[in-house]
Amino acid sequence: MSAKHLNEIIKAIQKANTILVATHVFPDADALGSQLGLSNILEGMGKTVIRYSEEPVSYLYDFLPDCEKLICELPDLSQIDCVIVLDCGDRLRVGKALEALLTIHPMIVVDHHTGHQEFGDLRWVQSGRASTGDMIYELSKALIAEISLDAAYCLYAAIVADTGSFKYASTTATTFTIAGALVARGVNPEQVATKLFDNFTESRLHLLQTVLSTLELSAEGKLALITATREMFELSGAASDDTESFINYPRALTSVKVAVFLKEKEGAISVSMRSKGSQYDVSEVARKLGGGGHRNAAGCKFRNGETLAEAREQIFALLLPLVEG
Ligand code: AMP
Ligand code: MN
Ligand code: MN
Repeated sequence: MSAKHLNEIIKAIQKANTILVATHVFPDADALGSQLGLSNILEGMGKTVIRYSEEPVSYLYDFLPDCEKLICELPDLSQIDCVIVLDCGDRLRVGKALEALLTIHPMIVVDHHTGHQEFGDLRWVQSGRASTGDMIYELSKALIAEISLDAAYCLYAAIVADTGSFKYASTTATTFTIAGALVARGVNPEQVATKLFDNFTESRLHLLQTVLSTLELSAEGKLALITATREMFELSGAASDDTESFINYPRALTSVKVAVFLKEKEGAISVSMRSKGSQYDVSEVARKLGGGGHRNAAGCKFRNGETLAEAREQIFALLLPLVEG
Protein backbone atom coordinates (compact mmCIF):
# COMPACT_ATOMS: atom_id res chain seq x y z
CA MET A 1 0.00 0.00 0.00
CA SER A 2 1.39 3.36 -0.83
CA ALA A 3 -0.65 5.98 0.93
CA LYS A 4 2.62 7.81 1.44
CA HIS A 5 1.77 10.44 -1.13
CA LEU A 6 -1.78 11.16 0.03
CA ASN A 7 -0.86 14.31 1.97
CA GLU A 8 1.17 15.59 -0.97
CA ILE A 9 -1.72 14.81 -3.30
CA ILE A 10 -4.04 16.89 -1.16
CA LYS A 11 -1.60 19.81 -1.16
CA ALA A 12 -1.09 19.56 -4.93
CA ILE A 13 -4.85 19.59 -5.59
CA GLN A 14 -5.36 22.52 -3.23
CA LYS A 15 -2.64 24.48 -5.03
CA ALA A 16 -3.78 23.79 -8.60
CA ASN A 17 -6.23 26.01 -10.47
CA THR A 18 -6.73 24.01 -13.66
CA ILE A 19 -6.79 20.22 -13.41
CA LEU A 20 -7.14 17.60 -16.13
CA VAL A 21 -8.78 14.36 -15.00
CA ALA A 22 -8.25 11.23 -17.10
CA THR A 23 -8.86 7.51 -16.82
CA HIS A 24 -8.25 4.30 -18.78
CA VAL A 25 -9.10 3.51 -22.39
CA PHE A 26 -12.51 1.91 -22.96
CA PRO A 27 -13.58 3.23 -19.57
CA ASP A 28 -15.90 1.13 -17.42
CA ALA A 29 -18.31 2.45 -14.80
CA ASP A 30 -15.60 2.69 -12.12
CA ALA A 31 -13.33 4.64 -14.46
CA LEU A 32 -16.05 7.05 -15.60
CA GLY A 33 -17.83 7.29 -12.25
CA SER A 34 -14.54 8.14 -10.53
CA GLN A 35 -13.53 10.60 -13.24
CA LEU A 36 -16.87 12.41 -13.40
CA GLY A 37 -17.40 12.27 -9.63
CA LEU A 38 -13.98 13.68 -8.79
CA SER A 39 -14.23 16.32 -11.52
CA ASN A 40 -17.56 17.50 -10.14
CA ILE A 41 -16.11 17.67 -6.62
CA LEU A 42 -13.07 19.63 -7.85
CA GLU A 43 -15.34 22.12 -9.61
CA GLY A 44 -17.21 22.49 -6.33
CA MET A 45 -13.85 23.52 -4.84
CA GLY A 46 -13.59 26.28 -7.46
CA LYS A 47 -11.15 24.51 -9.79
CA THR A 48 -11.33 24.59 -13.57
CA VAL A 49 -11.58 20.95 -14.63
CA ILE A 50 -11.00 19.22 -17.96
CA ARG A 51 -12.44 15.72 -18.30
CA TYR A 52 -10.47 13.88 -20.96
CA SER A 53 -11.42 10.55 -22.52
CA GLU A 54 -9.93 8.86 -25.59
CA GLU A 55 -13.33 7.65 -26.78
CA PRO A 56 -16.81 9.13 -26.50
CA VAL A 57 -18.79 7.69 -23.60
CA SER A 58 -20.50 4.35 -24.29
CA TYR A 59 -24.30 4.46 -24.33
CA LEU A 60 -24.13 2.09 -21.34
CA TYR A 61 -22.81 4.90 -19.14
CA ASP A 62 -24.31 8.01 -20.66
CA PHE A 63 -26.68 8.25 -17.68
CA LEU A 64 -23.78 9.39 -15.49
CA PRO A 65 -24.14 13.07 -14.59
CA ASP A 66 -21.74 15.42 -16.45
CA CYS A 67 -20.73 12.80 -19.06
CA GLU A 68 -21.51 15.41 -21.74
CA LYS A 69 -18.57 17.40 -20.37
CA LEU A 70 -16.07 14.73 -21.48
CA ILE A 71 -13.77 15.83 -24.29
CA CYS A 72 -11.92 13.47 -26.64
CA GLU A 73 -9.28 15.96 -27.85
CA LEU A 74 -6.50 17.11 -25.58
CA PRO A 75 -6.64 20.86 -24.94
CA ASP A 76 -3.68 23.27 -24.80
CA LEU A 77 -1.70 21.65 -21.99
CA SER A 78 0.17 24.83 -21.03
CA GLN A 79 -2.86 25.99 -19.04
CA ILE A 80 -2.94 22.82 -16.90
CA ASP A 81 -1.41 22.81 -13.41
CA CYS A 82 -2.00 19.18 -12.52
CA VAL A 83 -3.24 15.93 -14.09
CA ILE A 84 -5.06 13.21 -12.17
CA VAL A 85 -5.14 9.70 -13.67
CA LEU A 86 -7.69 7.28 -12.24
CA ASP A 87 -8.17 3.49 -12.25
CA CYS A 88 -5.10 2.70 -14.39
CA GLY A 89 -3.02 -0.31 -13.27
CA ASP A 90 -0.17 0.76 -15.51
CA ARG A 91 0.79 3.68 -17.77
CA LEU A 92 -0.26 1.97 -21.00
CA ARG A 93 -3.89 1.93 -19.84
CA VAL A 94 -3.89 5.74 -20.19
CA GLY A 95 -3.92 5.33 -23.98
CA LYS A 96 -2.62 7.58 -26.70
CA ALA A 97 -2.57 10.75 -24.54
CA LEU A 98 0.04 9.17 -22.25
CA GLU A 99 3.13 10.90 -23.65
CA ALA A 100 1.49 14.32 -23.64
CA LEU A 101 0.06 13.90 -20.16
CA LEU A 102 3.42 12.76 -18.76
CA THR A 103 4.74 16.25 -19.54
CA ILE A 104 2.36 17.73 -16.95
CA HIS A 105 3.60 17.86 -13.36
CA PRO A 106 2.45 16.83 -10.93
CA MET A 107 0.76 13.77 -12.35
CA ILE A 108 -1.36 12.25 -9.58
CA VAL A 109 -2.33 8.58 -9.85
CA VAL A 110 -5.15 7.00 -7.83
CA ASP A 111 -5.65 3.27 -8.40
CA HIS A 112 -6.67 -0.06 -6.89
CA HIS A 113 -5.25 -2.67 -9.29
CA THR A 114 -3.35 -5.75 -8.14
CA GLY A 115 0.24 -5.56 -9.33
CA HIS A 116 -0.05 -1.83 -10.04
CA GLN A 117 2.99 -0.68 -11.99
CA GLU A 118 3.95 2.72 -10.69
CA PHE A 119 3.96 5.83 -12.87
CA GLY A 120 3.31 9.52 -12.35
CA ASP A 121 4.66 11.81 -9.64
CA LEU A 122 2.30 11.29 -6.70
CA ARG A 123 0.56 7.98 -6.19
CA TRP A 124 -2.18 6.72 -3.92
CA VAL A 125 -2.51 3.01 -4.71
CA GLN A 126 -4.47 0.54 -2.62
CA SER A 127 -4.33 -2.84 -4.33
CA GLY A 128 -7.29 -5.00 -3.48
CA ARG A 129 -9.48 -2.03 -2.66
CA ALA A 130 -13.02 -2.48 -4.07
CA SER A 131 -13.03 0.41 -6.53
CA THR A 132 -11.37 3.67 -7.44
CA GLY A 133 -14.77 5.25 -6.73
CA ASP A 134 -14.60 4.56 -3.00
CA MET A 135 -11.03 5.88 -2.90
CA ILE A 136 -12.28 9.13 -4.49
CA TYR A 137 -14.86 9.39 -1.71
CA GLU A 138 -12.07 9.12 0.85
CA LEU A 139 -9.92 11.60 -1.05
CA SER A 140 -12.81 14.09 -1.12
CA LYS A 141 -13.23 13.74 2.63
CA ALA A 142 -9.49 14.35 3.07
CA LEU A 143 -9.87 17.48 0.91
CA ILE A 144 -12.81 18.53 3.11
CA ALA A 145 -14.73 18.98 -0.13
CA GLU A 146 -18.48 19.06 -0.65
CA ILE A 147 -19.85 15.95 -2.40
CA SER A 148 -22.77 17.01 -4.58
CA LEU A 149 -25.62 14.62 -5.32
CA ASP A 150 -24.30 14.25 -8.90
CA ALA A 151 -20.85 13.34 -7.63
CA ALA A 152 -22.31 10.93 -5.07
CA TYR A 153 -24.31 9.27 -7.86
CA CYS A 154 -21.17 8.80 -9.98
CA LEU A 155 -19.13 7.39 -7.10
CA TYR A 156 -21.91 5.03 -6.02
CA ALA A 157 -22.26 3.71 -9.61
CA ALA A 158 -18.47 3.18 -9.70
CA ILE A 159 -18.57 1.14 -6.49
CA VAL A 160 -21.59 -0.97 -7.47
CA ALA A 161 -20.06 -1.80 -10.85
CA ASP A 162 -16.57 -2.71 -9.65
CA THR A 163 -17.83 -4.84 -6.77
CA GLY A 164 -20.31 -6.70 -9.00
CA SER A 165 -23.09 -5.28 -6.79
CA PHE A 166 -21.11 -5.88 -3.57
CA LYS A 167 -20.48 -9.52 -4.49
CA TYR A 168 -16.74 -9.67 -5.12
CA ALA A 169 -14.12 -10.58 -2.53
CA SER A 170 -12.84 -6.98 -2.59
CA THR A 171 -16.07 -5.85 -0.87
CA THR A 172 -15.37 -4.92 2.76
CA ALA A 173 -17.11 -3.12 5.61
CA THR A 174 -15.42 0.08 4.35
CA THR A 175 -17.07 -0.41 0.95
CA PHE A 176 -20.49 -0.59 2.59
CA THR A 177 -19.75 2.36 4.88
CA ILE A 178 -18.85 4.54 1.91
CA ALA A 179 -21.75 3.27 -0.23
CA GLY A 180 -24.05 3.89 2.75
CA ALA A 181 -22.79 7.46 3.09
CA LEU A 182 -23.48 8.05 -0.62
CA VAL A 183 -27.00 6.68 -0.26
CA ALA A 184 -27.46 8.91 2.81
CA ARG A 185 -26.36 11.80 0.55
CA GLY A 186 -29.41 11.05 -1.61
CA VAL A 187 -28.37 8.43 -4.18
CA ASN A 188 -31.19 6.03 -5.08
CA PRO A 189 -29.65 2.51 -5.30
CA GLU A 190 -32.55 1.12 -7.32
CA GLN A 191 -32.16 3.84 -9.93
CA VAL A 192 -28.42 3.23 -10.30
CA ALA A 193 -28.89 -0.56 -10.49
CA THR A 194 -31.56 -0.15 -13.16
CA LYS A 195 -29.33 2.11 -15.24
CA LEU A 196 -26.32 -0.17 -14.84
CA PHE A 197 -27.91 -3.57 -15.29
CA ASP A 198 -31.46 -3.43 -16.70
CA ASN A 199 -30.31 -1.68 -19.85
CA PHE A 200 -30.53 -4.31 -22.59
CA THR A 201 -31.61 -3.58 -26.14
CA GLU A 202 -33.20 -6.39 -28.15
CA SER A 203 -30.08 -6.82 -30.30
CA ARG A 204 -27.96 -7.11 -27.17
CA LEU A 205 -30.19 -9.85 -25.77
CA HIS A 206 -30.00 -11.71 -29.08
CA LEU A 207 -26.23 -11.45 -28.99
CA LEU A 208 -26.26 -12.86 -25.44
CA GLN A 209 -28.41 -15.75 -26.62
CA THR A 210 -25.87 -16.65 -29.32
CA VAL A 211 -22.79 -16.08 -27.16
CA LEU A 212 -24.15 -18.32 -24.39
CA SER A 213 -24.61 -21.12 -26.91
CA THR A 214 -20.81 -21.19 -27.34
CA LEU A 215 -20.31 -22.26 -23.71
CA GLU A 216 -17.46 -24.72 -23.35
CA LEU A 217 -16.68 -26.36 -20.02
CA SER A 218 -13.32 -27.90 -19.17
CA ALA A 219 -11.52 -29.34 -16.15
CA GLU A 220 -14.64 -30.99 -14.73
CA GLY A 221 -16.63 -27.80 -15.10
CA LYS A 222 -14.11 -25.61 -13.28
CA LEU A 223 -13.15 -23.64 -16.38
CA ALA A 224 -15.80 -22.02 -18.59
CA LEU A 225 -15.33 -20.27 -21.90
CA ILE A 226 -17.74 -18.22 -23.99
CA THR A 227 -16.93 -16.57 -27.30
CA ALA A 228 -18.31 -13.69 -29.39
CA THR A 229 -17.25 -13.78 -33.03
CA ARG A 230 -17.36 -10.95 -35.55
CA GLU A 231 -20.23 -12.74 -37.36
CA MET A 232 -22.29 -12.78 -34.16
CA PHE A 233 -22.04 -9.00 -33.92
CA GLU A 234 -23.01 -8.65 -37.58
CA LEU A 235 -26.00 -11.01 -37.30
CA SER A 236 -27.39 -9.51 -34.09
CA GLY A 237 -26.67 -5.90 -34.99
CA ALA A 238 -25.22 -5.47 -31.50
CA ALA A 239 -22.22 -3.25 -30.75
CA SER A 240 -18.94 -4.17 -29.13
CA ASP A 241 -19.82 -2.62 -25.74
CA ASP A 242 -23.05 -4.66 -25.67
CA THR A 243 -21.08 -7.62 -24.27
CA GLU A 244 -20.63 -5.85 -20.93
CA SER A 245 -21.59 -8.28 -18.09
CA PHE A 246 -21.87 -11.38 -20.36
CA ILE A 247 -18.94 -12.92 -18.45
CA ASN A 248 -21.13 -13.08 -15.33
CA TYR A 249 -23.25 -15.89 -16.82
CA PRO A 250 -20.55 -18.57 -17.10
CA ARG A 251 -19.13 -17.30 -13.78
CA ALA A 252 -22.49 -18.02 -12.16
CA LEU A 253 -22.19 -21.79 -12.73
CA THR A 254 -21.71 -23.51 -9.39
CA SER A 255 -18.85 -25.65 -10.64
CA VAL A 256 -16.94 -22.79 -12.28
CA LYS A 257 -13.78 -21.42 -10.66
CA VAL A 258 -12.57 -19.40 -13.65
CA ALA A 259 -14.65 -17.97 -16.49
CA VAL A 260 -13.23 -16.58 -19.73
CA PHE A 261 -14.84 -14.51 -22.43
CA LEU A 262 -13.15 -14.11 -25.82
CA LYS A 263 -14.40 -11.28 -27.99
CA GLU A 264 -13.37 -10.77 -31.57
CA LYS A 265 -13.03 -7.08 -32.37
CA GLU A 266 -11.61 -5.32 -35.38
CA GLY A 267 -7.94 -6.25 -35.44
CA ALA A 268 -7.85 -7.76 -31.95
CA ILE A 269 -9.26 -10.33 -29.57
CA SER A 270 -10.15 -9.01 -26.15
CA VAL A 271 -10.16 -11.35 -23.17
CA SER A 272 -12.14 -10.99 -19.95
CA MET A 273 -11.46 -13.32 -17.06
CA ARG A 274 -13.28 -13.80 -13.76
CA SER A 275 -12.47 -16.12 -10.88
CA LYS A 276 -13.91 -17.01 -7.50
CA GLY A 277 -12.05 -16.96 -4.21
CA SER A 278 -8.43 -16.31 -3.36
CA GLN A 279 -7.02 -19.49 -4.94
CA TYR A 280 -7.33 -18.41 -8.56
CA ASP A 281 -5.53 -15.17 -9.43
CA VAL A 282 -6.55 -14.27 -12.99
CA SER A 283 -4.62 -10.96 -12.89
CA GLU A 284 -1.40 -12.99 -12.86
CA VAL A 285 -2.50 -14.86 -15.99
CA ALA A 286 -3.57 -11.58 -17.65
CA ARG A 287 -0.21 -9.98 -16.87
CA LYS A 288 1.61 -12.90 -18.52
CA LEU A 289 -0.37 -12.07 -21.66
CA GLY A 290 0.37 -8.35 -21.49
CA GLY A 291 -2.79 -7.29 -19.63
CA GLY A 292 -3.70 -6.78 -15.99
CA GLY A 293 -6.53 -6.36 -13.51
CA HIS A 294 -7.45 -7.79 -10.13
CA ARG A 295 -7.25 -11.21 -8.52
CA ASN A 296 -10.87 -12.04 -9.45
CA ALA A 297 -11.36 -9.85 -12.56
CA ALA A 298 -8.75 -9.28 -15.20
CA GLY A 299 -8.26 -8.86 -18.93
CA CYS A 300 -5.82 -8.69 -21.80
CA LYS A 301 -5.76 -8.29 -25.57
CA PHE A 302 -4.34 -10.29 -28.46
CA ARG A 303 -3.31 -7.71 -31.04
CA ASN A 304 -1.01 -9.62 -33.39
CA GLY A 305 -3.55 -11.21 -35.67
CA GLU A 306 -4.06 -14.33 -33.53
CA THR A 307 -7.16 -16.36 -34.37
CA LEU A 308 -9.75 -17.16 -31.71
CA ALA A 309 -8.40 -20.72 -31.61
CA GLU A 310 -4.84 -19.49 -31.05
CA ALA A 311 -5.93 -17.10 -28.30
CA ARG A 312 -7.92 -19.90 -26.66
CA GLU A 313 -4.89 -22.19 -26.76
CA GLN A 314 -2.60 -19.66 -25.07
CA ILE A 315 -5.14 -18.90 -22.36
CA PHE A 316 -5.93 -22.54 -21.67
CA ALA A 317 -2.21 -23.33 -21.42
CA LEU A 318 -2.07 -20.93 -18.46
CA LEU A 319 -5.50 -21.54 -16.94
CA LEU A 320 -5.80 -25.33 -17.05
CA PRO A 321 -2.84 -25.89 -14.68
CA LEU A 322 -4.28 -23.19 -12.40
CA VAL A 323 -7.74 -24.75 -12.05
CA GLU A 324 -6.49 -28.33 -12.09
CA GLY A 325 -3.56 -27.67 -9.72
P1 AMP B 1 -13.10 -6.46 -18.01
O1 AMP B 1 -13.07 -7.94 -18.11
O2 AMP B 1 -12.88 -5.78 -19.31
O3 AMP B 1 -14.31 -5.97 -17.28
O4 AMP B 1 -11.85 -6.07 -17.12
C1 AMP B 1 -11.67 -6.58 -15.83
C2 AMP B 1 -10.48 -5.92 -15.18
O5 AMP B 1 -9.29 -6.22 -15.91
C3 AMP B 1 -10.57 -4.41 -15.14
O6 AMP B 1 -10.37 -4.02 -13.81
C4 AMP B 1 -9.47 -3.88 -16.01
O7 AMP B 1 -8.76 -2.89 -15.35
C5 AMP B 1 -8.57 -5.07 -16.26
N1 AMP B 1 -8.25 -5.16 -17.69
C6 AMP B 1 -9.09 -5.49 -18.69
N2 AMP B 1 -8.49 -5.47 -19.89
C7 AMP B 1 -7.21 -5.11 -19.65
C8 AMP B 1 -6.05 -4.89 -20.48
N3 AMP B 1 -6.10 -5.07 -21.81
N4 AMP B 1 -4.91 -4.51 -19.87
C9 AMP B 1 -4.85 -4.34 -18.54
N5 AMP B 1 -5.90 -4.53 -17.70
C10 AMP B 1 -7.06 -4.90 -18.24
MN1 MN C 1 -11.73 0.16 -14.66
MN1 MN D 1 -11.64 -0.09 -11.03
